[in-house]
Amino acid sequence: MTGELVDGWGRTHRDLRISLTDRCSLRCTYCMPADGVPWLSTSEMLTTDELLRLVRIATGLGIREVRLTGGEPLLRPDIVDTVARIADIDTADGPLDVSLTTNGLRLAGLAAPLRDAGLARVNISLDTLRRTRFIELTRRDKLAEVLAGIEAACAAGYAPIKLNTLLMRGVNEDEVVDLVDFAIDRGLQLRFIEHMPLDAGHTWNRSQMVTAEEILTTLSARFDLVPQGHDGAAPAETFAISGTDATVGVIASVTRPFCGACDRVRLTSDGQLRNCLFAHEESDLRSLMRSGADDARLAQAMIACIARKRPGHGIDDPAFVQPRRPMSAIGG
Ligand code: SAM
Ligand code: SF4
Repeated sequence: MTGELVDGWGRTHRDLRISLTDRCSLRCTYCMPADGVPWLSTSEMLTTDELLRLVRIATGLGIREVRLTGGEPLLRPDIVDTVARIADIDTADGPLDVSLTTNGLRLAGLAAPLRDAGLARVNISLDTLRRTRFIELTRRDKLAEVLAGIEAACAAGYAPIKLNTLLMRGVNEDEVVDLVDFAIDRGLQLRFIEHMPLDAGHTWNRSQMVTAEEILTTLSARFDLVPQGHDGAAPAETFAISGTDATVGVIASVTRPFCGACDRVRLTSDGQLRNCLFAHEESDLRSLMRSGADDARLAQAMIACIARKRPGHGIDDPAFVQPRRPMSAIGG
């Protein structure tokens, strides 16, 4: 395979985010509605063989990192086998780097087998440490499972383990310091993510969003933060916390966009390639594949999709329109 995934602004794409399923075991209010979600059918979803074929083609075009996400990726019944097969793919620069973002619910049982299968790193979402609040936020009484999942990930030896936290005004913004203390105590790296307009209910409101600036002001009152900047194309701006081994980060997608350094491309569980979280167009690799396209034709479609990438997400543009697919169906 020749060619790389380079867009019209010179950004080379190395990081493939794959949504393994649009289904989820939680219903976080900022992500999914309580019910009435139109799920993809099994026949619409890529089989594991189809997925593997696309990943192999993408690595031939320069992809070096794969992050598995969803929906909830640990709901995929063959998740351990899928991870093992992806981690087994060699690239021109060595083995593919495979990581996963999860709500943690099934991690207690899966952390060790996934590590044995070749999973390098794990990000776990945790928005609150309070049971009642967790139920309000996720519409499920499952905090204990998430905490058990975090402990299992620590015991399995993943390093680093990152926590993703999304703060909502008037809901959990008062837990900033408690969550960071929780992370410091366990040697975890916490990242606060700004709420983006990708919720299924289209209820996002910029004035309601807790900004990175506000979070950093609260943190600075309690911790001595030493700025470390961005790690390459990574979206998080990180800070060392003096007197600890921990770092804390903010992913300020809305107020401090980092589109200029973006090297990410996304594949949905139904085989649509997206050049941006906020893209309106998708490249239908599943139909191409099922109509008999060879690897070269699929590679060409990937290259063309990236070539069309816009310079930025445009959230601040008055003409911004939220994409049709919610975050849970794109893969965060
Ligand atoms: N279910 C898994 C989880 O929650 O980690 C993986 C998928 S979830 C879509 C990935 C991440 O996206 C989570 O950390 C979640 O908090 C974040 N997320 C979901 N909706 C979001 C939104 N509208 N804006 C910003 N982040 C969002
Ligand atoms: Fe599920 Fe993750 Fe969305 Fe929460 S953020 S509803 S856990 S996909």
